[in-house]
Amino acid sequence: MFERAALIHYHEIGLKGRNRSAFERQLRDNLDAALGSFDVERAERFSSRLLVRVRDHAQLEAVCRQAADTPGVSNAAAVYITSRGSRDMNAAALLAVSEVPDARTFAIEARRSNTDHPVRSIDMNREIGQHVVDETGLGVDLSNPDVRVYVEVVQGDAYIYSRRYPGVGGLPVGTAGAVISLLSAGIDSPVATWRLMKRGAVVVGVHFSGRPQTSDASERLVAKIGEALSHYGGMGRIYVVPFGDLQREISLAAPPDLRVLLYRRLMVRVAEEFAAVERAKALVTGESLGQVASQTLDNIAAVDDAATLPVLRPLIGTDKLEIVAEARAVGTYELSTVDHTDCCTLFMPRTPATRATVAEVRAAEEVLDMERMVADAVASAEYHDFPCVPYRRPKWLPEGVSAAETL
Ligand code: ATP
Ligand code: MG
Repeated sequence: MFERAALIHYHEIGLKGRNRSAFERQLRDNLDAALGSFDVERAERFSSRLLVRVRDHAQLEAVCRQAADTPGVSNAAAVYITSRGSRDMNAAALLAVSEVPDARTFAIEARRSNTDHPVRSIDMNREIGQHVVDETGLGVDLSNPDVRVYVEVVQGDAYIYSRRYPGVGGLPVGTAGAVISLLSAGIDSPVATWRLMKRGAVVVGVHFSGRPQTSDASERLVAKIGEALSHYGGMGRIYVVPFGDLQREISLAAPPDLRVLLYRRLMVRVAEEFAAVERAKALVTGESLGQVASQTLDNIAAVDDAATLPVLRPLIGTDKLEIVAEARAVGTYELSTVDHTDCCTLFMPRTPATRATVAEVRAAEEVLDMERMVADAVASAEYHDFPCVPYRRPKWLPEGVSAAETL
């Protein structure tokens, strides 16, 4: 009998001063897109909240969960929309209480965001609470109730709910520009990608596969990882670059212990070509300090020397176990642990350098025709696109780059 909706709360946006309305608009557009497959109305914006009316009440929980997974959302509540009359509010509060099975105690938490309503919150708590006690016999427990019923009174309506789904937080995708993420099919870089997405960046991935020296297994996995991340609305596109022949070329010409660093420097340069195409302002990697031989401070410096853009490493101070937990929560872990060979395991030296210097890697590169190698890599790239509202497709692409056929 009451209308139902997802009431979406966000907090950080409230801090953004002059940008606030742009942030709210972006979040609203992102939510409309994320909820496009449900039977819902478009999100309405009012006093620091968004409301999505759900026509098919059976979808309410799924709508709330999807909304909660949208960056920028702090929580999504499954509300009853009522008038501000006490009969309606009492009836909806009873329904909300009954949504938590086997509850023995409850509390009412009323809040007015418009003071044009004559009844004070504290009196509403009492009035509605008394009604619930009379009708159900439940006990009141203000500090640790089995069910907490929230009553939010706004201009014209009241929103009443007991179930709220914690959101992923962060900022709406599309409020922070674009980044290029060096995306392997491993555990770390999908999590690094997610972290940037969550902070409002549109992410374009660049994946280097071992093809033609290996199969395309890692390419298919990365496309699936892209789909999984696309659930959060921030994955624009992934470029896949066959890298096996270039690695072979490096391995034949360069000292074995420096190979991995030279592969990485080439990756960085290729990624920067795509950054220019995509107007992306930074690169992202999944490195974590000291995790493997290539991730020492010396080696990080030796690779960064090849970059002109900032290289963001959101996992630099994160332990493997924490990264694994995050990968599971985000939904990429299962894909990242499928057995595959990618270019990382190709032409690996037995003992990679752990303390290379910039001078050494520069000297080793002198025998290589870097410019041509970068051009070859770029020209053989294929890309996958994902649904992403704020992603602006580039107006031009380098010669040779083409859309991938299937996922
Ligand atoms: P991941 O779990 O992300 O694969 P890793 O623990 O295997 O990382 P490295 O192999 O040292 O660590 O890679 C460090 C970073 O370099 C990765 O997190 C990723 O950002 C980038 N990278 C490595 N291999 C590739 C690849 N094949 N394609 C794109 N980026 C890559
Ligand atoms: Mg890896």
